[in-house]
Formats: sequence, C-alpha cells, structure tokens
Amino acid sequence: MQRVTILGATGSIGASTLDVIARHPDRFTIYALTAHSRVDELAAQCRQFRPQVAVVGSAAAAEKLSRLLRQQDIATQVEYGEQALCSVASADECDTVMAAIVGAAGLLPTLAAARVGKKVLLANKEALVMSGQLFMDAISGNGATLLPIDSEHNAIFQCLPAAYGRAPAAHGIARILLTASGGPFLHRPVESLETVTPEEAVAHPNWVMGKKISVDSATMMNKGLEVIEAHWLFGAPASQIEVVIHPQSVVHSMVSYADGSVLAQMGNPDMRTPIAHALAYPERIASGVAAVDLTRIGTLQFFAPDFGRFPCLKLAYDVLREGGTAATVLNAANEVAVDAFLARRIGFRMISQVIERVLSRLSSQPASSLDVLLEQDKLARESAESFITS
Ligand code: NAD
Ligand code: MG
Repeated sequence: MQRVTILGATGSIGASTLDVIARHPDRFTIYALTAHSRVDELAAQCRQFRPQVAVVGSAAAAEKLSRLLRQQDIATQVEYGEQALCSVASADECDTVMAAIVGAAGLLPTLAAARVGKKVLLANKEALVMSGQLFMDAISGNGATLLPIDSEHNAIFQCLPAAYGRAPAAHGIARILLTASGGPFLHRPVESLETVTPEEAVAHPNWVMGKKISVDSATMMNKGLEVIEAHWLFGAPASQIEVVIHPQSVVHSMVSYADGSVLAQMGNPDMRTPIAHALAYPERIASGVAAVDLTRIGTLQFFAPDFGRFPCLKLAYDVLREGGTAATVLNAANEVAVDAFLARRIGFRMISQVIERVLSRLSSQPASSLDVLLEQDKLARESAESFITS
C-alpha cells in the first residue's frame, strides 16, 4: 500500500490525482491533503478519503475546517502554515508526495519531501525552475525518486531509455522535442493581444487547468518554464531542447535519437494519464482516460513557434543560457505579473515587459544556497510590483 500526501489537493492536479487514487483503493491510501483557502472542498475530500492530517493556509481556515470535520465526526487532524506543509511532506507515515501547489509557495514542502528521500511526483514546475541544481541535489543526495507529472516531461520520461542517467549524449539522444498547443492566442493578431481579458486568457483550447498555468499557456511562459524544467530533469542543454507547436495536444512530447528515430508518447489531453503513470511506476494502471482514437482526430499538425508573438518563451531560453539565479527571478516576476493581469491591473502584453524589466534590474547571482534563491525571489517580486504600480 502506497501512502500518499497531496500538496495542493483542491487544485486541478490535486483533484485529478484523487480521481485516479479513488479507482485503486487496493494500492493507495491518503496520509495528508493540503489546500490554501478552499476549506469546503477540502472538507469534502476529507470525508471521502479520511486522511490522517489536513493542512490549510491560515488559522482562520484551520478553525473552519476543524468545525466542519467535527460536525461530521471525521477524525482528521487539522494543521496550518508552511511548517505543517513541510511536516506532512516529510512524515514517516507517507511514501509518496504529489507536489501540486502552484508557484514558489510549493518549493519548501517539495524540498522537504526530497530531503527525506520520498517518491516525489512533480507537477509544481515553478519549484524546480526556481531552485534548479539545489533541488536536483536534494533528490540525488537523499535517495529520493523524482517522477515528472507535467504531461510533456512525463511523455519524455516514457520515451527515454529505462536506465537514463541525465546525460543525453551517452544515450544517443540528439534532441528533446517539447510540444506546445500554442494556447488560446496562437492565431490572434498580435496587436489585439493588448486588450484580451483574463477570461479569454484562461480559456485553454485543450486542457482545463488552474488560472495561473492557463495564463502561462497563453503567454507561452508555461512552455518556457517547461524548457527549464526539462533541462534540470533530463540534463539537456538549451540547444538540445526544442519547442514544437502542436495544436491538437495528442503528442505530448518526443525524444529524437542519433539514428534518426523519434519516439513520441500520445494520449488524450487528460492529466490523469501522467498522474497514473507516475503513481504506479514502473507498473501501469487504469487512469479513467480512454485511449486516443487517431482515426477520429485525423490530422496532427506541427510547426515552429514564433518568438515575436511569444516573447516569454524567448526570455525563458535566455535565462536558461544565463544560469545562476536568473530563472528564480524570471519565475518570481512572472508570478507577480500574472497575478496583476488576473486582477486587471495590467494588460496581457505587459506580462513579458514586467519580466524583462525585472531581469534587467537584477543581475544573475550564483545560485549557491536556498537563502540566496529566496532573497532573489523576494527582490524580484518587489521589483515587479514597483514597476507595475509606477
Ligand atoms: P490550481 O490553481 O488548480 O491549484 C493549486 C493548488 O495549490 C490548490 O490546491 C491551492 O489550494 C494550492 N495553493 C495555492 N496557493 C498556495 C499557497 N500559497 N500555499 C499553499 N497552497 C497553495 O493549480 P493546478 O492547475 O492544479 O497546478 C498546480 C501545479 O501543477 C502548478 O505548478 C502547475 O504549473 C502544474 N501543472 C498543472 C497542470 C494542469 O493540468 N493543471 C499541468 C501541468 C503542470
Ligand atoms: Mg505541461
């Protein structure tokens, strides 16, 4: 029996993870569920899955959750705050941690899981993007297992040799091809992007996801973060990671080998496939997702991305080449800019401008410690905020 903690249980990935787990009561039990503020949803999840611990973001939320659980005679212990997130991610009572908090807020609990050698299922790409080598060292230095949940990285993982050692050349790998849907604005005139609304930006053509990643998909910063994520997960330099636009989201990514073979993983766009793959790895279990019907889809298209339309994608390649804390700064500035866009404080095209400005103000430092990363994250947020309000 695998005992699972889900960080970010009330989100899109959290709900899909519980959906898969509910199909296999013989394999998985829930040790802990966490949410930031959606207490009613978390209470409903506690009723169904009976975790030992539930963690929320504040004392007020904890009080409300405790009351709801008491009324229903549910014995789940309620805690709150970052330290509690780290405890449930590293507790002896759990084997596997689904890291599905959105943004930098997920870094410390995910690191806590890595540092005690858990099986870490990584959806929270921002945590890896902002901490890079430090995160990978925490995994390898403590005997932890890292399995990618992001559909592209999970696809690449499936297309790699079984004993892949994060060295593409040693395995005859020429390139990693990350597919991207192109998001909702792939064909919209660039000039008109200034006036798009948050509602239009979060309406992704193929995937239903949280708001932040949906906006990131519209700017293609999501693909930029994924290029950086692929660099750390698979040990490939920027020059060997290529983005290919594929509007149907059926091929989830590919690996191109020296002999001319290109291996692809295909499936319907439903996150339960990569989640089930990682939960059961190296076995295969049912996820609730039907196999893709290629005769119904008929046509699969692929083309190169337009960096002029998607400046965020270029910024991500730039920071990956630069190294150091540049990716930490990019990630933090992006989080602030996306929040400001969703709050209608800035227009859509300002998102990349905010990030570019912050990157030009904060020069990259060696990413030598967690303190340095957290300090750069904070400075980047302040810088982005001051640019937005000026
Ligand atoms: P979401 O917004 O639907 O859910 C986010 C979860 O994080 C919620 O449970 C929320 O309570 C929690 N959370 C938010 N802020 C928090 C904070 N400050 N402290 C603690 N918890 C907090 O997001 P999502 O779409 O499920 O995405 C989660 C992560 O997975 C993101 O990093 C995203 O990039 C990644 N991801 C998502 C998808 C997808 O299809 N949704 C695909 C690939 C990767
Ligand atoms: Mg993805």
